Amino acid sequence: MGPMAGQDAADRGRTARILVAEDERQIRRFLRVALTARGYEMLEAVSGQDALDQLPVLHPDLVILDLNLPDMDGLDVVRRLRDWSNIPIIILSVREHEEDKIAALDAGADDYVTKPFSMGELLARIRVALRHAARSEDEPVISLGNLQIDLARRRVTISGREVKLTPTEYDILKVLAAHLDRVVTHGQLLRAVWGPGYQQETHYLRVYIGQLRRKIEDDPSQPRYLLTEPGVGYRLVSPASG
Ligand code: CA
Repeated sequence: MGPMAGQDAADRGRTARILVAEDERQIRRFLRVALTARGYEMLEAVSGQDALDQLPVLHPDLVILDLNLPDMDGLDVVRRLRDWSNIPIIILSVREHEEDKIAALDAGADDYVTKPFSMGELLARIRVALRHAARSEDEPVISLGNLQIDLARRRVTISGREVKLTPTEYDILKVLAAHLDRVVTHGQLLRAVWGPGYQQETHYLRVYIGQLRRKIEDDPSQPRYLLTEPGVGYRLVSPASG
């Protein structure tokens, strides 16, 4: 089990296998119908321990994890999983528990959807997580619509025209590009760009994200590339997919 799991599934010509850890039977049933219809194989765990027991045995390609499980904190499930596995984890959370969701992302979960969620949104998150897991090596040039980020040359262009970024602006864009289509929390960004000890300085981000948007967005007040996840962080997306 590792970052190649999605690719393994594709190579073997089988559909991806998704473990859903969720104690609410109705949600499991809803997910089973929807995921099976899309050709995914779904496994079920009804508690955190059940999920942790099944994972090393059944080798799913992705985990959908309810944070509010009866036996243990979903956050602990994420931490214990991340001790030995890179499997993509998508969090199911309820809106009132915003801090738990952010803590789970900081602990290594890949993404989240908020209950009640739309199936279209969850399926999009699943595709992104599996695609990212299948990516075997880093791509030196990332293309999103008209925006190109050349990581080898630290060069950013829009429709072929170079955009001059400050080192900090570039570093922020680079971290977001490494998590393409996936959310990056304020804490993750601040840690990666400014270092530990700056995790509370979200106003830094507001300033620099504003500057970045003025440089890369056609209309900085209606961003198409650099999206805000309210209260959580930011997400760099391809305008076609977003
Ligand atoms: Ca629950």
